[in-house]
Amino acid sequence: MFFHIILTTECNLQCRYCFGEALEDVDADFPDFKIDYCLPKRMSYDVDSLDRFCRQDPDCVLIFYGGEPLLCVDVIKQIMDNVKAKHSLIQTNGLLLDRLEPEYVNRLHAILISIDGDKALTDFYRGKGTFRKVINNLKLIRRNGFKGELIARMTVMEQTDIYKQVKWLLNNDELSFSSVHWQLNAGFWKNDFSRRDFKKWSQENYNPGISRLVKFWVDHMENEGKVSKLYPFLGIAQSLLLDEKQTVLRCGAGWMNYAIQTDGYIVPCPTMWGIKNYYLGHISYTSPLKVKKISLSELCTKCDIFKICGGRCLYANITKRWSPKAYGLVCNTVRNLVTTISEEIPRIRKLIKVGKIGLKDFEFMKFNGCEIIP
Ligand code: SF4
Ligand code: SF4
Repeated sequence: MFFHIILTTECNLQCRYCFGEALEDVDADFPDFKIDYCLPKRMSYDVDSLDRFCRQDPDCVLIFYGGEPLLCVDVIKQIMDNVKAKHSLIQTNGLLLDRLEPEYVNRLHAILISIDGDKALTDFYRGKGTFRKVINNLKLIRRNGFKGELIARMTVMEQTDIYKQVKWLLNNDELSFSSVHWQLNAGFWKNDFSRRDFKKWSQENYNPGISRLVKFWVDHMENEGKVSKLYPFLGIAQSLLLDEKQTVLRCGAGWMNYAIQTDGYIVPCPTMWGIKNYYLGHISYTSPLKVKKISLSELCTKCDIFKICGGRCLYANITKRWSPKAYGLVCNTVRNLVTTISEEIPRIRKLIKVGKIGLKDFEFMKFNGCEIIP
């Protein structure tokens, strides 16, 4: 099982799509849910109880998460020294990566780093100076011997040209990433749809950009014999190649991947902290192998592409922050993604057949924090 450990609810950045949106949404409550608005700011249970919890699952994987997890460097070290986990990963904004000593950084299986693309775009969304500091820290950890997977984790909205920015992340003079994942800022907030132009952007920019990017991805396989780890493409293409039917969320939320709040309660996903209706247990008395599983509503299970999409996002499905009409535009992006990749499957099969690439090139660690469906 995979567990996001929410080490703190605090963050050292004020990004537009998170802090900025939260300010705009301040009066938008959750009338259908009981919410705990008073979670401890820092982890309030002891590391020993986390160890007792994890020991019950020989395949327990921990993902350090926040807020910004590196605000709690000492706790990360305590956990890495004392908790028996198969792997440890971190999802971080990277600003404080230089505070974690190489002996710990180098033991991380993967680092998911929040970066939205080039300097101009990253600093626009995340604040001036963010890009430089993050890139410097990433160069530092590579110099200090980090050999694990470094995943650029983009948040994507109207200012993003997905084709241009993903290509930039894959190949640039600063620091090229071999793994990229992105998630749309869509369906997470109540009041944002009316003040944004998601419809125009998704139809005129994002969807065509994805189609171009899929073609670029397969051209690269053909020309270089390499399958770039673009997570949304990888997950869908692998399912299509193996003829898998996807009947559960690809991100794993609520069945394979959970989050442990700062007070030790277990919720299906980090975005669902404080939603008491979805408290599924507590690390002090629940076995990691017996955490309750959560199903998606009919909004997804009755959808004609459910068996390839898998449902996108449990939080969005349950909280319904966007109207069905608005959310339909998000589903159209999924439809476009699936269609475009499906159209390229015959070409990919040919490349596998002639040995240019192999099926194993599409393998990846599932539930590592990359949701697959953006
Ligand atoms: S396309 Fe939309 S409605 Fe269909 S399964 Fe995916 S998220 Fe659910
Ligand atoms: S896609 Fe999954 S992991 Fe991501 S926010 Fe939604 S439920 Fe949580």
